[in-house]
Amino acid sequence: MSYDQNNIFSKILKGEIPSTPIFENEYVLAFNDIEPKAPNHIIIIPKGSYTDSFDFYKNGNDLEIIEFERAIAKIAEDLNIDKTGYRLISNCGRDSGQEVPHYHVHMLAGKKLGPILG
Ligand code: AMP
Repeated sequence: MSYDQNNIFSKILKGEIPSTPIFENEYVLAFNDIEPKAPNHIIIIPKGSYTDSFDFYKNGNDLEIIEFERAIAKIAEDLNIDKTGYRLISNCGRDSGQEVPHYHVHMLAGKKLGPILG
């Protein structure tokens, strides 16, 4: 699948639609999910144009990937959920039900989250 420059998260990156930023550096942006499924529901995205997890980990450069993973730990610390715990989910492709075709990880926390599949 080729990258759609008009997807919602691309528009957030370009500042064309608003978001509530939680974290930002040269490689990564994180913001609140617009329809939170837990007390903390953060969307974490790389700034590069990758459609999904497969695209990012196959084609992203080492620095982008390392910075992305480090950002997850930094966000967990900033939100004080590094001790209480959190769940990371990333839908990839058709069978996962991925809605927004820019790679993203959902970070969910702030309560006991229950089984992975409800
Ligand atoms: P996915 O099904 O993994 O692609 O998840 C897409 C997520 O993006 C959903 O949880 C939506 O609530 C979220 N979302 C859609 N539009 C926005 C937006 N403008 N700002 C923040 N989150 C959004």
